[in-house]
Amino acid sequence: EVLADQIAAGEVVERPASVVKELVENAIDAKSTQIDIVVEEAGLKRIQVIDNGEGIPAEDVELAFKRHSTSKITSREDLFRIKTLGFRGEALPSIASVADVYLETSTETDVSGTLLHVKGGEQLEKKTSVRPRGTEITVADLFYNTPARLKYLKSLQTELAAISDIVNRLALSHNDIAISLSNNGHTLLQTVGNNDLQQTISAIYGVKNARQMVAFNGKDLDFKVAGYVSLPKLTRATKSYISLLLNGRYIKNFQLSNAIIKGYGSKLMVGRYPVAVVNITLDPLLVDVNVHPTKQQVRISKEDQLAQLLTKCVYDRIAQENL
Ligand code: ADP
Ligand code: MG
Repeated sequence: EVLADQIAAGEVVERPASVVKELVENAIDAKSTQIDIVVEEAGLKRIQVIDNGEGIPAEDVELAFKRHSTSKITSREDLFRIKTLGFRGEALPSIASVADVYLETSTETDVSGTLLHVKGGEQLEKKTSVRPRGTEITVADLFYNTPARLKYLKSLQTELAAISDIVNRLALSHNDIAISLSNNGHTLLQTVGNNDLQQTISAIYGVKNARQMVAFNGKDLDFKVAGYVSLPKLTRATKSYISLLLNGRYIKNFQLSNAIIKGYGSKLMVGRYPVAVVNITLDPLLVDVNVHPTKQQVRISKEDQLAQLLTKCVYDRIAQENL
């Protein structure tokens, strides 16, 4: 059991940022309106995610740490209609197999909450606890029992940048949630959670950058795209300042990012990249999210057509501004 979990962890839990991603996605799935992420030493010492979501009923807490016991997929068709970010029931057991994990949770209706301590896949303690509705999960000493994994990690600075990156993107795709991130007591991000994308952009990329952004949108028979792109005056962005959301879910896609860069006219302005946040809406049947366990890579039918649409929308919008 523990070994299977550790093998799964090799796929799901690559680095501290992957733990942050899985825990925050769980908090989002639990309909939290506030999520606080507290890390120490770029997450290597400690990662704590505190939410005010639905919590886990006392009788389900142990089950949450059992592999696939929570899988929400019962048929192949379900794959295309997933409403939650998590669906494999793999993250918690994987994380708990390679770290020291404390989970404290409480639902609205339970008389008391639950505290569960799992280390290296072994349950060490379970007791009742008193806390308000929501879940607090603490992951300490990540990879303490898998030294090979530890060796693969980059500098603290790089690991922290990866955490920031993932939290930024989760914040951008969930404007309705107040999300904060701190490392060693320093606040790195604090969003308001008032559904205002431009405010989230401002919290992440700075007020100045946010002011330089204009809204754009467009559609064809299969896709609808809507977002914000910075005007070419802005020179301080890098390629990584492009965020793609597919039906509200953050994705990575090289071709689509490049399509935006192309529309922005980077050929004429070598080394300049836009800040861009784009939400792409499409029929879920055109996408298969089940390509990789971390679900960031997705396969899209008619990807060339979508790339062309993005290039055209961004190009037209910026041309309009330059008139
Ligand atoms: P998945 O998200 O794929 O279902 P996980 O291993 O990430 O699997 O989580 C297992 C289960 O634990 C979830 O399905 C959910 O029921 C519960 N859970 C985990 N984190 C939270 C949380 N922060 N709030 C409420 N429930 C949670
Ligand atoms: Mg999950």
